[in-house]
Amino acid sequence: MAAHEDYYTTLGVSRNASAEEIKKAYRKLARKHHPDRNPGDKQAEARFKEISQAYDVLSDPEKRRQYDAGPSPFAAGAGRGARGTGGFAGFDFDASGMGDILSNLFGGGASRGRTTAGRQRAERGRDLETQIQISFQQAMSGAQVSLSVPMQGTCPTCHGTGAKPGTAPKICPRCEGRGVESHGQGMFSISQPCSLCGGSGTIIEQPCETCKGAGVVKTVKHYRANIPAGVKDGGKIRLPGKGEPGRGGGPPGDLYVLTHVTPSPIFKRKGDNLEVEVPLTIPEALRGAQVQVPTLTGRKTLRVPAGTKPGTVQRLRGEGPPKPGTAKAGDKPQRGDIHYRFTIDVPKKLTKEQEQAVQALSAAINGDPRAALFQDAHRSGEAAGTATGRRGSTGHGGSTERGSS
Ligand SMILES: [Zn+2]
Ligand SMILES: [Zn+2]
Repeated sequence: MAAHEDYYTTLGVSRNASAEEIKKAYRKLARKHHPDRNPGDKQAEARFKEISQAYDVLSDPEKRRQYDAGPSPFAAGAGRGARGTGGFAGFDFDASGMGDILSNLFGGGASRGRTTAGRQRAERGRDLETQIQISFQQAMSGAQVSLSVPMQGTCPTCHGTGAKPGTAPKICPRCEGRGVESHGQGMFSISQPCSLCGGSGTIIEQPCETCKGAGVVKTVKHYRANIPAGVKDGGKIRLPGKGEPGRGGGPPGDLYVLTHVTPSPIFKRKGDNLEVEVPLTIPEALRGAQVQVPTLTGRKTLRVPAGTKPGTVQRLRGEGPPKPGTAKAGDKPQRGDIHYRFTIDVPKKLTKEQEQAVQALSAAINGDPRAALFQDAHRSGEAAGTATGRRGSTGHGGSTERGSS
């Protein structure tokens, strides 16, 4: 990892810049790299902290004089001074594990030339979940929804440093920013988190008043989210990076939107498809018919063949719900099917005219469709071998010796 930039380079000013010039340069850069303007951008956040650190030193006449003079007291005697170890603590992720071991083996000094700045551990922000309720139609066509998500947000006053504006976290004097303390000697030394800074490698002398030094505050974030067409009830939509902000330069978590879909009274969801119950009259079922059925966008005609039994299904391919994630750029998504399941509409009461018609029908269709039930139910042993041969005798309306009276 490269050595940290000179503070003047960081702010892009000359070594004899005036206090006013330094302030101006800082403001301009801080605005540009502000974490709120670059959500989820770890580099911008690291840059922002470097800028803050540089400004903390260069804006203070006494600190600036010492910095100009050479090896910096801020880094507590480290050879490279502030430029070696003083780059903002927490962004040298390689300075862990092996680095500590080496540093112990070589008496702690060997790795100082590298940027063994302290390790404010980079922590990914928490994932969050929120819930929404949408209508069946919205689920089919897709919807844009507004979300209000309470979360821990980066403190707007200190931008997450936890330090009062105009100040910056200091390199911890006990661990010199390494975040660990070593006890014992050489090979047998034990490293543990620094008891002064808690392992962050920095300490905050003047905490930010808004967040009391925590760097985060309770906030409510407002998002607009696109719910993809075809989402199912209970479906979870992941919005990457919309969860809680990370700490120490870590990435933000994700937001999961748990979607509840108000069911349609007509279209029942069955996996990737929809099912619709279509009642037929008795004559329609007997003689066949052209019937109109609803689709998601209008209606279509189905040809029902004569002798359609209840439970029979016809399907319209590709008329069902869009399958989320199947749309290629500029293309339409694949869609499931709609299954139309026929039922027979049986009237509870008959008019006189209907009664007469049914009597005539009954006289004409007078077989016993149940005859075969008894034949098969009470036949034993030999049945298995002849089962296929008997099928012909189970047809409807076949007149038998037990014919109806
Ligand atoms: Zn704050
Ligand atoms: Zn410490």
